[in-house]
Amino acid sequence: MNVTVLSGGVGGARFAEGLLDAIDPAGVTVIGNVGDDLEVFGLHVSPDLDTLLYTLGGVADEEQGWGRAGETWAALETADELGAEAWFQLGDRDLGLHLARAEALERGEPLSAITERFARVLGIAARILPATDDRLRTWIQTDDGELPFQEWFVHRRHEPEVLGVRFEGAETARAAPGVLEGLRDADLIVIAPSNPFVSIGPIFAVDEIRAAIAARKVPAVAVSPLIGGRAVKGPADRMLRRLAGGTDPSHVARCYKGLIDALVYDESDGEVELEVRPIVTRTLMTDAAARRRLAEAALEAAAALR
Ligand code: GDP
Ligand code: CA
Repeated sequence: MNVTVLSGGVGGARFAEGLLDAIDPAGVTVIGNVGDDLEVFGLHVSPDLDTLLYTLGGVADEEQGWGRAGETWAALETADELGAEAWFQLGDRDLGLHLARAEALERGEPLSAITERFARVLGIAARILPATDDRLRTWIQTDDGELPFQEWFVHRRHEPEVLGVRFEGAETARAAPGVLEGLRDADLIVIAPSNPFVSIGPIFAVDEIRAAIAARKVPAVAVSPLIGGRAVKGPADRMLRRLAGGTDPSHVARCYKGLIDALVYDESDGEVELEVRPIVTRTLMTDAAARRRLAEAALEAAAALR
């Protein structure tokens, strides 16, 4: 069975982990968000792709929710002592990956090929691909002006109220090699429980990807990132309230209008009228078993739609 997943960082990676547990990983393609990418110390950092690599490679710091387990911070501390701007946290091991990626990009290897190569090194049997190899960057419009995504998310702790989002480079961005094939060959398309505006939004901002999913011949299922109307972590609930008019499952479904056939959402959100098939279950991914159960709920939803 081939399943193609659209994913941001943490929520998406945890869901993907459950999916790899539920079906043969060789059939799984994960399309990751690159709107969060940035340059730090001249190095290209892809936080969401890296969260996917670390989580599916079994080397993520689960407690912290980002970065690598057993991380140390000597390089960043040294940079800080020497007066560098060091608000974006990069551990020593993490930096090693960014160095290897910078070297490969410098040689002309596309981000998609680099990501696939790193996944193989980490022993990941699924394909992990960036939505695009082109430059695509998320900007956040706030009451304090327009901010680059990480400036808003990390440096300003996503405090400034969001008025809108913009995806720089989206008009000309092409799907990365493998992405359209992954969608074409899928038996099921899943939108992971990721932030609809800043994790999934930049993926759909690539016209070819949105068009491929809009024209799908197989079921597409989204999993809500909200539980009881609240984000497990991060600003998704605030963004939905502000940009979609509310935080119940119908507002999540509306973010994906025409792009999904079913929405998996948490039982604590109660009964809601949806334009797509509702699948109500427990969606908190506390441990490996819960992640797998959530992936299985999405698979069952798809089977029922066929
Ligand atoms: P980021 O790029 O690291 O912010 O990650 P994502 O956009 O992929 O995931 C963030 C979203 O995941 C947040 O909106 C959370 O509410 C959601 N999330 C995290 N853990 C869970 C969980 O256990 N269950 C569900 N349903 N959503 C979750
Ligand atoms: Ca992200």
